[in-house]
Amino acid sequence: MKHNFGAGPCILPKEVFQEASQAVIEFNNTGLSILEISHRSKEFEQVVIEAEALVRELLHVPENYSVLFLQGGASQQFAMVPMNLLPEGGKAAYLDTGVWASKAAKEASKLGNVEIVASSSDKNYTYIPQGFSVPSDAAYFHFTSNNTIYGTEIFEKPAVGIPTVVDMSSDILSRVINVADYDLIYAGAQKNMGPAGVTLVIVKNELFGKSGRTVPTIFDYQAHAKAGSMYNTPPVYSIYVSMLNLRWLKAKGGVEVIEQENIIKARTLYDEIDRNPFFKGTANVEDRSRMNITFVMDTPEQEAAFLNLAKERGLVGIKGHRSVGGFRASVYNALTISSINALVDTMREFEEKTK
Ligand SMILES: *Cc1c(COP(=O)(O)O)cnc(C)c1O
Repeated sequence: MKHNFGAGPCILPKEVFQEASQAVIEFNNTGLSILEISHRSKEFEQVVIEAEALVRELLHVPENYSVLFLQGGASQQFAMVPMNLLPEGGKAAYLDTGVWASKAAKEASKLGNVEIVASSSDKNYTYIPQGFSVPSDAAYFHFTSNNTIYGTEIFEKPAVGIPTVVDMSSDILSRVINVADYDLIYAGAQKNMGPAGVTLVIVKNELFGKSGRTVPTIFDYQAHAKAGSMYNTPPVYSIYVSMLNLRWLKAKGGVEVIEQENIIKARTLYDEIDRNPFFKGTANVEDRSRMNITFVMDTPEQEAAFLNLAKERGLVGIKGHRSVGGFRASVYNALTISSINALVDTMREFEEKTK
């Protein structure tokens, strides 16, 4: 058995893999595989309807928001957000908390003026900037709630007084949020919602057409909303597997319940990082992420030795991103506390062997 701490595509529950694999052989007594059914079939229409209903229920999405399943990943949203929200000659405000945040800002700068309101690049993004101000004449404020690479997370939406867009790719559905605090939320599914290939967008309907630009239809939120996420052939299988995962989450008790588990999982691992003299957390303690936990050791030799031991113990995906080094344990919803315990035990074993 492997313990998958990979940052993305991510672990999903065993039950989801089982049901998803069954549907590849035959989907819902249709005599057809999920991979060959028409996206216009009643059966698949039901899948999209249920997936949307589950997102609405699990995140308590208000009526005046659309829930969309799009393609192109979170990276496509880096471009779609300014296309739809930033008027010609307008300005957008971005908080720079990592590579993803800065890529999002870079895409927006191709379409208008971007003001970086604050950046933590001076310390390799190990902290979340505080006390910045946002220009009131900006069309919107954009931030990344969880910085997947650096292991920092913003739990409280910054109070900025202008429409707010958030990239929640790596912490969507991991904790309770108030959707009404945001004007647009997007998340590539492959971190915490499902397999790669589908991107969740939750957008306030009043934002449609806000930029006044001529937007190619495929990049127009309103077109996708009107078509019920069926403007063109949607990623059928990715939506289906996401729907199964949303069902699993609902059966567990929803976001409220998983958040408590996620708190315990993260605390268990951070406690060991702080206790064990061989390991050191890289993120500012107050800004630590619950989803991606980054830590290093004193020497490259120790890190290589620990990585080897981890491999022997069935821990996969814990090597840190090259821009941080060391280790990153991604502890998404489907990762169980027993996997956390396996990692903690391995850290203790390393300590015992080495000291
Ligand atoms: C992974 C990630 C992205 C990029 O997602 P793609 O779907 O690969 O485009 C963007 N933002 C965050 C926070 C991520 O973790």
